[in-house]
Amino acid sequence: MKSPDDRDGAAPGPDTGHPDTRHPDTDHGASARTDRTRLVVGGRHPHEHYGFVNTPVFHGSTVLYPTAEDYLARRSRYKYARRGTPTSEALEAALAAIEGPACAGVCLLPSGLAAISAALLAVLDAGDHVLVSDSAYDPTRTVCDTLLVRWGISTTYYDPTIGAGIGALMQPNTKAVFVEAPGSLSFEIQDIPAIAEVAHARGAVVLMDNTWATPLYFRALDRGVDLAIQSGTKYIGGHSDIMFGCVAANARTDKALRDTVFTMGLCVGPDDMNLAQRGLRTLAVRLAAHETAALKVAQWFETRPEVLRVLHPALPSHPGHAIFKRDFTGSSGLFSVVFRPTSQGAVNAFLNALTLFGIGASWGGYESLAIPFDCTKIRTATTWQPGGPTVRFHIGLEDTDDLIADLERGFAAMTAVG
Ligand SMILES: *Cc1c(COP(=O)(O)O)cnc(C)c1O
Repeated sequence: MKSPDDRDGAAPGPDTGHPDTRHPDTDHGASARTDRTRLVVGGRHPHEHYGFVNTPVFHGSTVLYPTAEDYLARRSRYKYARRGTPTSEALEAALAAIEGPACAGVCLLPSGLAAISAALLAVLDAGDHVLVSDSAYDPTRTVCDTLLVRWGISTTYYDPTIGAGIGALMQPNTKAVFVEAPGSLSFEIQDIPAIAEVAHARGAVVLMDNTWATPLYFRALDRGVDLAIQSGTKYIGGHSDIMFGCVAANARTDKALRDTVFTMGLCVGPDDMNLAQRGLRTLAVRLAAHETAALKVAQWFETRPEVLRVLHPALPSHPGHAIFKRDFTGSSGLFSVVFRPTSQGAVNAFLNALTLFGIGASWGGYESLAIPFDCTKIRTATTWQPGGPTVRFHIGLEDTDDLIADLERGFAAMTAVG
């Protein structure tokens, strides 16, 4: 099997007249590098592009062959843009570089949801059964409840905190277990190594939505996950200006994933790939800043009389904190707050008074966001009774003192409404 680093090593660029011995992605000592460095060098071969630091953005569909003989023998590095371009290969290599040694390849998808549905379809056939965490991103459930049903694949939702108890739910036709940790509204942490051990013993593969932690803070493939999915719309893009998704596969799942994505004709536009690539270079510094700021704001929320609980797995008060500390190396900028019982009008007044927090879906960009949510109607395997109204916060890159002052304004407005 080829390592991610030499996946694109065969790419001959423009003839620069000398061997490319100085490109940053050369493998010498690469295994000793940290993810921070890999994010900067991954997939870059400047001397294949006349020395320019970044891989050019190839806009294209047709790839021309020099002769009829070459065309008949398909003698060309690239065949057709949907099958890969220098732009897509550079991004795949850069993403693979931070997924760890078990990564056999990364596929690029036009959104996080496309990455989820493609990954599920890659490993499930008619008649199969899949186990999905009750805390999964709601549109993931829609894929299971509509598309998979039509294709004869059944789903059972399970308590995200089930751990090795997942074995009791496995049927002879259970081919996949889908995990997401933490849940992106409710923030349950899952014991993924325990789930993976049981799933693998029964011949099932494990898929994970790893959007919250990214491979920087949770090395999914090292912990038993066979397909690690991210909505690149969030932290990879990092600037709220693209839709993008990706799936990292290990040797067991790589071919099925790649064949499915290719057969379905899924591909990403070159400008969005370029923005994903650009976002990736600064992922480590941005994520570290989101982490520090979110922890500060979350701890501040814990001191507020209006707050019943803060749902953030890096806080010792979180029920999943021990597993979080064992398996994750960091936390990102997204968490939820349970307010003490109050009216929806008071919660709305809180949100409407905020000037730095936008009210809107998605997260992972540089800006702060807040949305009210209610998981009651989403759940089927567990009941959602947080004890009060819930709001999800994404802490952006603004100064935390300014954010806290904004939130104080929100609480004042909330109290005024009562
Ligand atoms: C946003 C999100 C997705 C879907 O990603 P899109 O790029 O919006 O399709 C999937 N999972 C989680 C946890 C998300 O937050």
